Amino acid sequence: MAKKINVKNPIVEIDGDEMARVMWAWIKEYLITPYLNINLEYYDLGLLRREETKDAITLDAAKSIAKHGVGVKCATITPDKARVEEYKLSKQWPSPNATLRAHLDGTIFREPIICKNIKPAVNSWKKPIIIGRHAYGDEYKAAEFTVPGPGTVELVYKPADGSQPTVLTVHEFKGKGVTMGMHNTEKSVRSFAQASITYALQRKTDLWFSAKQTILKQYDSFFMNIFQEEVNKRKADFEKAGITYWYTLIDDTVAQIMKHPGGVLWATKNRDGDVMSDMIASGFGSLGLMTSVLVSPDGKMETEAAHGTVTRHYRQHQQGKKTSTNPTASIFAWTGALKRRGELDNTPDVVKFAEALEDANIKTIEGGTVTGDLARLIHDTPKPPEDSYVDTEQFIKAIAKRLESNL
Ligand code: NAP
Ligand code: MG
Repeated sequence: MAKKINVKNPIVEIDGDEMARVMWAWIKEYLITPYLNINLEYYDLGLLRREETKDAITLDAAKSIAKHGVGVKCATITPDKARVEEYKLSKQWPSPNATLRAHLDGTIFREPIICKNIKPAVNSWKKPIIIGRHAYGDEYKAAEFTVPGPGTVELVYKPADGSQPTVLTVHEFKGKGVTMGMHNTEKSVRSFAQASITYALQRKTDLWFSAKQTILKQYDSFFMNIFQEEVNKRKADFEKAGITYWYTLIDDTVAQIMKHPGGVLWATKNRDGDVMSDMIASGFGSLGLMTSVLVSPDGKMETEAAHGTVTRHYRQHQQGKKTSTNPTASIFAWTGALKRRGELDNTPDVVKFAEALEDANIKTIEGGTVTGDLARLIHDTPKPPEDSYVDTEQFIKAIAKRLESNL
């Protein structure tokens, strides 16, 4: 085994729940600890620990990422009513991801991992399409109202200084109908634009933003103009990175993306991102190959797998059965965090290690050693032959073996 590599500054490690947590421990045991001298600021966000600390641990973890700049997170349970009973919780604790996102004022970008033997549903997609979703406001914080019968709906703005209100007629209803008012804020849109630009520059990938300003002349133009202003501020950085910014109408972008080779970061409004990120994810294949990164406007970063704790597999694991769960997205969460740490610390050997680990993981898959979810895609059947895939731990060990020869 090669000499251990020193990682200069700490990475915040956030542990999680269920099958994701089981894989997490193996990833560390086989792929991280043997190769790196690394100071991990460990936060256990397993649901029991969140209960014990009345969820204070989640905010502590968020503060630690803000301090150190880089975090890596395992999937965690967002408790619903059934979980409150299962874990005897004193409260239905909020989603840890929502807490982290709010504290870091972050935007989430999802990115698929490309392997030659996993064919995307769209033939032209050769490189990843990174999709960023503005996760504040619009339909998701709308005031809705079912109009019971004839009458007028108005939009009223009352200035805080007591000056003359502005009143707009939404619609004069002749019968039943429905209406809503939605909003966004300059602060939130600007943070979203900044995070998108920051991440596009970091990843040296072209940036797209799309909206529908031809219809929403004020609402979507507001977004479009803020993006353009923020891009203008970073013109020199765009040139230096050799990347471009492109604004288009959302329907045009959707048409373009189906013929595009990929290799772009596509920033979307809240509703567009909700819909399009699921389309892109399923178009690229398995959730086990989808990564996710939370980026703050000033470039602080937390990486994770896009999938959850894989409860169904965990139930089997609890019964002592082997599962074939794909750890790839979790491994890429680690490599993403390590690459960022290495860039910030100016330690190219750390970046190189992360790249060697990614390569080992991809080559393992391309060499035909795969987990069940990928066997299903390769064999194009929900029930691939049992000898066409390995169990979770065997898969991680196969990556470790390849990594050893990569270093
Ligand atoms: P999930 O954990 O993503 O799993 C849904 C299904 O997708 C699995 O049953 C499995 O399908 C497949 N899958 C997902 N990841 C896989 C992997 N790595 N390898 C192979 N197959 C994979 O979603 P869920 O079951 O809806 O949610 C479970 C828990 O996760 C919930 O408590 C939820 O709150 C939490 N969650 C957390 C996060 C997060 O922390 N970021 C995100 C989403 C959900 P098959 O069963 O068909 O094999
Ligand atoms: Mg969605």
